[in-house]
Amino acid sequence: MTDNEAMTPQGSASPVSTGATQGAGRSALREELRVLKLQAADAGSGAAAQALAHRDAAYVAFDLKDLAAAMEHALGCVQCARASGDGRLQVKAHVTLALAMLESYDDAGAQREFLLARTLAEELGDQRGVALAAVNSSHFELERRNYRQAARLLLELLTSPWMPGLLEPDAHQLWEIFHVNFVVAVSEALMAGDGDPHLRETSERQLAVSRALVAALLDRGDELSVQDASAVLDALTRHALWAGTLPEARALADEHVRVTRDADLPLLYGRALLDRSRVFSRSGDLEGAIRDAELGVRYFGEAASELWEARSREVLANAYARAGRYREAFETQQAVTRGVENLYRDYHQQRALVSQIEHQVRETEVRALALAEAALRDPLTGAPNRTQAMQVLGELYGRAQQGHPSAIALLDLDLFKRVNDTFGHLVGDAVLIEATRLLSAELREQDLLARLGGEEFIVILTDVTLQEAAAVCTRLRDTLYHAAWDALTPGLALSGSFGVATLDGAQDITSTLKAADQALYAAKAAGRNTVRVAASGGEPELQPG
Ligand code: GH3
Ligand code: MG
Ligand code: MG
Repeated sequence: MTDNEAMTPQGSASPVSTGATQGAGRSALREELRVLKLQAADAGSGAAAQALAHRDAAYVAFDLKDLAAAMEHALGCVQCARASGDGRLQVKAHVTLALAMLESYDDAGAQREFLLARTLAEELGDQRGVALAAVNSSHFELERRNYRQAARLLLELLTSPWMPGLLEPDAHQLWEIFHVNFVVAVSEALMAGDGDPHLRETSERQLAVSRALVAALLDRGDELSVQDASAVLDALTRHALWAGTLPEARALADEHVRVTRDADLPLLYGRALLDRSRVFSRSGDLEGAIRDAELGVRYFGEAASELWEARSREVLANAYARAGRYREAFETQQAVTRGVENLYRDYHQQRALVSQIEHQVRETEVRALALAEAALRDPLTGAPNRTQAMQVLGELYGRAQQGHPSAIALLDLDLFKRVNDTFGHLVGDAVLIEATRLLSAELREQDLLARLGGEEFIVILTDVTLQEAAAVCTRLRDTLYHAAWDALTPGLALSGSFGVATLDGAQDITSTLKAADQALYAAKAAGRNTVRVAASGGEPELQPG
C-alpha cells in the first residue's frame, strides 16, 4: 500500500517501513515534506507534476497531523490539477482536498469535494476515479463512525459498473484499502446489529473474502508500513470481535499495540490501546480494559489530541461503570464534557486557520486569473486587445479550414487627429471609450470588437458570409455616425471607415488582414464614413450605402 491514493483507516499511506526503523518517524516525514514542498513549487516541472507533488505532500502532512500544511497542499493540488487540464488528475485533487477537509472537521466541505470528484470521474468515464472517490468516502464515514453508511458505499461500488477501476494492475493500494475498509465497516455494522437482514445477506460472503485478503497482507511482514499494519490489525480485530473469537481478537489487539508502540507516528499507538481496551471489555477483563483506556487518555493528552482524548475518556468511563466504579465513571464522564468544550474551541481555531489558508490560496488564484485576463485587454477602453484578437483569429481560421468561414473588418476612425487637435486629447480618449461601448453593444456574443491600437479596431464576425458582414458593418458605420457625439462636447462629430474581408481558409490570416486593410484604404479614398469589401482575389468593391 505505497502509492498515495487512499487513506487507510489509521491515517495515510505514505511509504514508511516498519522494517527499516530509521526511515520511519516524524523527522523523516518532515524531511520528506520539505523535499515535496520544493518539488510542488517548481513551476518548470509542469502543472501535472506539481499537482502530484502537492498531493504527496498533503499525504505526508496527514501522517504528521499537520493540518495547515495538508490544507495548503491539497488546495495547491486542486489549483495545479486544474491548470494541467487533466480531468483524472482533477478527480485525485478533489479527493485529496476532501481528505484535508475531513481531517480539519469540515464535514460539509469534505462531502462536497467527494461528490465533485465522483461526478467528474463519472463524466470522464474514469472507473479508477469513481473507485477512488468511493473508497475514500468510506474512509470519511468510518472516521465519523457511520459504519452502515460506509458499508453501503463499498457494497454499491462492488456491484457497480465502476468496479473494474479497483482491479487495474496498478491500483493495488486502492484494492487493499477497499477490503480493509470493507472488513471494518461491515463487521461494525453487523455488530451494531440493528436488524438489517439485507446488509447481512449481501455482505457476509464478501466479508469472508475480504477478511481473507486482508489477513494475507500480514504475511508481507516488514514490507508493510506501520500505518498499514495498524490498519490491517485493527480490521482483523473488529472482525474477530464480530465473529466472537475472543482469543483471536486478543492476540490481534496485542500485536497491534506492539507494532505501534515504537512507531513515533502521531495517534497510532493510542488508537491501538483503545482497540485493545474494547477487546478486554468484551472478554470480561475489566481491569485490563481500564488499564488500556487510562494509558490511552494519558497518551492522547500528551499528544495534544483533544478529540481522541475525549474518545478514550468515553471508553474509560464505560469501563469504570461496567466494573462498578461509578464515582470514577461519573468523574471521567465530566472530564469528557470539559474535553468536548475544549475540542469545540480547538475546532473553531483550526477551522479559522484552515479557512485563512483556503482564502489565501483562492486569492492567489483569482489574482493570476485577473492578470491573465488583463493581458488580453486594452486598458483605456476595456476592449479585447490585439493579442486576444489574434488568438480568436487563429481559432476561427482553424474552423474556416474545416469549411466554416467567418468574416473580419478593420475599422479606422475618420480624421481622429482633428478630434484631438480641436477638442483635446481627453475628449479623444472619451470618444474611443464611447465608440467601443456603442459598437460592442451591436454585436452578438460570438463576435468580437478588439482595439488594435490608436483609433484602429478589428471586428470579428463568427460564421458570417462576406455579404452579411458588409451589412453588419454598414449598421456599425451608421451607429457611429448618428451617435449623440454633440452631447459629449458641442460641435463634435465622428465617423469611421470599414474594410471587410472573408476568413475562409483559402488565404492565411496575414493575407486576410492585408485584404481588409486594402479595402479600408479604398474606403478612406472614397471619402470616409464608408464600408468597402475586399473582392476575392481582386480590387475592393464599393458597397451600396
Ligand atoms: P484618417 O481618417 O485618415 O484615419 O485620419 P486620422 O486623423 O484618423 O489618422 P491619423 O493616423 O493621422 O491620426 C490618428 C490619430 O489618433 C493620431 C493620434 O493622436 C490619435 N490617437 C491614437 N491613439 C490615441 C489615444 O489613445 N487617445 C487619443 N486621444 N488619441 C489617439
Ligand atoms: Mg489610423
Ligand atoms: Mg483614422
